[in-house]
Amino acid sequence: MTETGGACRGGSGRGRNELQQKAILPKTRALTIVSLLLAGLTFSGGLSLCEEKISSPRLLLEPSRLHPGQFLVVFLEGLDPDDEASFQTNLPQTTLKAYPYRQGLISLVGVDCRTPPGEYTISVRVRQKDLGLWQQKLKFVLEPKTFTTQHLEVSPKKLEVRSREKWQQDLPFIREARSKSCDLPLWEGGFLAPLKGRKTADFGLIRYINGKEAGRHSGIDIAAPNGTLVVAANSGIVCLARFLNVTGYTAMVDHGLNLFTSYCHLENLLVKQGQQVLKGQEIGQVGSTGFATGSHLHWGAIIGSIFVDPYLLVEKDPLDIFDQETG
Ligand SMILES: [Zn+2]
Repeated sequence: MTETGGACRGGSGRGRNELQQKAILPKTRALTIVSLLLAGLTFSGGLSLCEEKISSPRLLLEPSRLHPGQFLVVFLEGLDPDDEASFQTNLPQTTLKAYPYRQGLISLVGVDCRTPPGEYTISVRVRQKDLGLWQQKLKFVLEPKTFTTQHLEVSPKKLEVRSREKWQQDLPFIREARSKSCDLPLWEGGFLAPLKGRKTADFGLIRYINGKEAGRHSGIDIAAPNGTLVVAANSGIVCLARFLNVTGYTAMVDHGLNLFTSYCHLENLLVKQGQQVLKGQEIGQVGSTGFATGSHLHWGAIIGSIFVDPYLLVEKDPLDIFDQETG
C-alpha cells in the first residue's frame, strides 16, 4: 500500500524534491531517536512492561535467521508522540539509525559479511510519559555462510590504481555521500537489477590479488559490453556522481532510511549529484574505469556503512513484511 503526501524533510540537506512516500509520520513533535554503539547491555529477556498501557509498543524483527551479508528490518510500532525510544544491538561495530514510520520507528540493520555466526539481539527501550520505561529484546540467529574465493592476477600498473593512497583520496567523497539519508523511504517496491548480464563475481567473495588477500567483494559484478545502459535499481536521490580513483565513474543513490545503492566502473555518468532519479531511469553506461579488469558493472547496496547483498533488494521490498503485519 502506498500513501502519498509529505516530503523528504531535508535529512540530507540536499534540497530534495517532494517525493511519493509510504510513511505516516507522528503528528506532533519528532520522536527522540537515539543511535547507540553497543555491547554488553543486559535485559532479563523477552517482554518487560513496567506499567500497563492500553496500546503498548510492539517490536517486530524480520528475518529471525539470516546470513552474514544480509540485513534485518526492525519496526517498533504503537508509539505515542511523546515517547522517547532508543535501539541497541550487540552486533559488532554497528550503529543503529531509526526513522519515524507509521506511528513508530523503523531501522534497517545491515550485517557485515565478516560477522561471526551466532545469536544476536536487538533491544529497545521506550520512555513513556507518565508510564515509565517499556523495554523489549528480540533475538536473531546469524547462520554460518561459506563465501567463495577468487584469485586475480593484475599488472603492477593496474594495481597502483587501488593503492592505499588512491583509496584515501576517494574515501571522503564516499563517506560524505553516505553521511545522511532521507528520513522517508523513497523507493517503490522491489528493486530492479540495474543491468542484464552475466554475474561474474558474487557478493562477499574473498578476493586475492596477485596472491595477497585484498578484502571482501562489496557488491556483485555483472559483465556487459561497454556502453550498455545501466539503470537506477529504484527511486531516490543521487548522492554521489563523480570519478573516483578505485571505482572509476561512480553513481550512488540514496533511497532513504539509510539505504543506498552504488554503480561503479561506468564509462560515463548520465546523472548529477542532487538529482532525483526514478526506478529504471538511466544513470550511466557500462565501462571499465578505475580498478577493473574488464567491462562490467559493480553494483553495491549499503545500509549506513555496511555493504549487503544487493540481490536481496530484488527479491523483496524491505518494507513488504510490515505492510502485511500492520495493514
Ligand atoms: Zn566488483
